[in-house]
Amino acid sequence: MVDHMKRRSFLTSLAALGLAPSLGACAEGVPTTNPVGSAGQSKRADLKITKAEVLQVTGKSKRKVLYLKVHTGEGLVGLYGPIDNEAAMFADRFFKRHLIGQDPLAYEAYWDRMFRASRHSRGSHYIMGLSAVDNVLWDLRGRLFGLPVYRLLGGSRKRVRAYASCLGFSQEPSALRAKARELKQQGYRHQKWFVRDRGPSHGPEGVEEDVAVVRLLREAVGDDVDLMFDAFWRWDLQYALAWARRAEQYRPRWIEEPFQTANLDAFIELSRETSIPVATGEHFYGRWDVHKFLKADAIMVVQADPEWCGGVSELVKICTLASVHGVNVIPHGHSLHAAMHVVASQPIEVCPLVEYLIRKMHGYYDFEKHQPRPVDGILELSDRPGFGIELDESKIEDIRVVSWQQT
Ligand SMILES: [Mg+2]
Repeated sequence: MVDHMKRRSFLTSLAALGLAPSLGACAEGVPTTNPVGSAGQSKRADLKITKAEVLQVTGKSKRKVLYLKVHTGEGLVGLYGPIDNEAAMFADRFFKRHLIGQDPLAYEAYWDRMFRASRHSRGSHYIMGLSAVDNVLWDLRGRLFGLPVYRLLGGSRKRVRAYASCLGFSQEPSALRAKARELKQQGYRHQKWFVRDRGPSHGPEGVEEDVAVVRLLREAVGDDVDLMFDAFWRWDLQYALAWARRAEQYRPRWIEEPFQTANLDAFIELSRETSIPVATGEHFYGRWDVHKFLKADAIMVVQADPEWCGGVSELVKICTLASVHGVNVIPHGHSLHAAMHVVASQPIEVCPLVEYLIRKMHGYYDFEKHQPRPVDGILELSDRPGFGIELDESKIEDIRVVSWQQT
């Protein structure tokens, strides 16, 4: 649409969406002063959502991503993304209409009402959509109060440690060894590698090869780097037990998703039989899924994802639950904004790490001015309000509102 769009008209279209820095006191829709003015307290009490929309942002590279945006009558906006297609569709088709007139401060009531609003609310795309709405409301409240989300949540940690999540790197031994050493040199004290190429159909030879990966990595990085392994649901209990018995000597920090999350009994059995902590949770939907695993002593690491489990609000509840059981919450890292802020808001004993998917995150936030990038294995939280998301017009070719209402 805007292949030939001149800069002025492009900025006008950004302005119409509340995203252009030339919009008076607003930069990227972020007011530089309190938008409710000196009579703020009473106006804050009256603040209502007036509009919600899904924005499709097309980069100059032609890559397209989706953001959820909400508006209030006071000109204040909230922005969150990139979000998954499924989340965007549910946000647009269902949650949007329930947002109009909603008090953005009353998020607990809204979440609960939406969770009770459908007999299919307990999982999957429904709760992904609810997560997107919950997160955009956190962003809006941050912009309202001029504070980053982690501070609104009661946190004080400005720096969080990232672990290198090594999806997509070569498993060829010399390449594996070189990459692991390189990541250690870059300051990553924690590395997660994937053992998803083999499974029960590969028999004892498969187990042997998956143990060899652990041995090679331990030899490559020494004893001062934590190694984690993700089996991506590929294993069964017998395979996992055989691997764990032989891999324990190399002290993995955890084995992640050896089975599908539906297979609670296998998680319980594996946890009982190995000293290696067992992790799962990127497919947990809501605190109830987590509770089932924790009360059964099935896992030691909860990996709920704030864009899938119900949003920042739900992940904070999950952190509380995990703290009661003495286990870690280390959120799944398919994206970073919400996960970073929740981790920074919690005690380090509960949330010690953030997942940083090295290959995926390279370019994932291309559309934004401030891209989370670990330095020496550390991610810095900014003081920008909300999640601090500001779109970068120099990377964007087109922004348009998209809708699933008619489909
Ligand atoms: Mg995983």
